[in-house]
Amino acid sequence: MNEASRHRTEPTTHSLHTTKRKIPPMCQHQPPCPTAESADRESARLLAHHPEQGWSLLCNGVLLFEDTGELLPDGQIIAPHRALVTTAA
Ligand SMILES: [Zn+2]
Repeated sequence: MNEASRHRTEPTTHSLHTTKRKIPPMCQHQPPCPTAESADRESARLLAHHPEQGWSLLCNGVLLFEDTGELLPDGQIIAPHRALVTTAA
């Protein structure tokens, strides 16, 4: 019943803090995905997955290829870094 008064007392400074984050505004995930600059960039959520074309688009704008190569949103190319495990058949 006192829901209206609860809304009025909510501090407005909170919304200012959340807009100052480094996360791209397109990311709506909780917790937010790592940025393209982050070493952890591959753990961002998938926005699009095209296995038939061999690539996936991550939430932070990184294009992740089947062979573990990456194309960053700023045009930087990351060479494939798949673990070289010799699978003796
Ligand atoms: Zn995200």
